[in-house]
Amino acid sequence: MARPKKTLQTPASLDELRMRELVAFTARTFDTAFPSPFGALIVHTKTGKELMRGTNAVMRENDPSSHGETRTVRLACKKLKRPSLVGYTMYSTCEPCPMCMANALWARLDRVVYGATIEDANRHTLQIHVSAVEVARRSDMDCIVEGPFQRDLCNTLFDDPRMQKAFKKRSSAKKNGKRS
Ligand SMILES: [Zn+2]
Repeated sequence: MARPKKTLQTPASLDELRMRELVAFTARTFDTAFPSPFGALIVHTKTGKELMRGTNAVMRENDPSSHGETRTVRLACKKLKRPSLVGYTMYSTCEPCPMCMANALWARLDRVVYGATIEDANRHTLQIHVSAVEVARRSDMDCIVEGPFQRDLCNTLFDDPRMQKAFKKRSSAKKNGKRS
């Protein structure tokens, strides 16, 4: 019971803590057969309590919709046994693509906080060039979108030599994703 006030973190430092945890969690994929820089974490907005975390599993599940964010929302809703994540916040190591941002809106998430940007990711992979803010802006749902937050830290996931090796392997099977 000592110093109860000081155990409460400000929202900014809680965001930082959560993003750091998420980056460390996502980096664990680098030592698996399917390395990925894309991870997501869903927490209760008010208490900060973790509900679900997950990484991109497109390759592992042979499912193009298994992006980190969409997959984590799917798992979180299954856990809650309801299709709504009202009252929850999602952290993502990268700005959600239009599919993931739309899914976040349909899930009614309160808030989305992302690290690296779509442009950052596009240095390494194919992307759809519509920002998460734009997708949210053009919807009827209220969702706070914040980012880039801890961008440099999140970009270390993309720049990790193990990830770079995996990107190179994959790009040999497809055209480079860079846009002119
Ligand atoms: Zn996505």
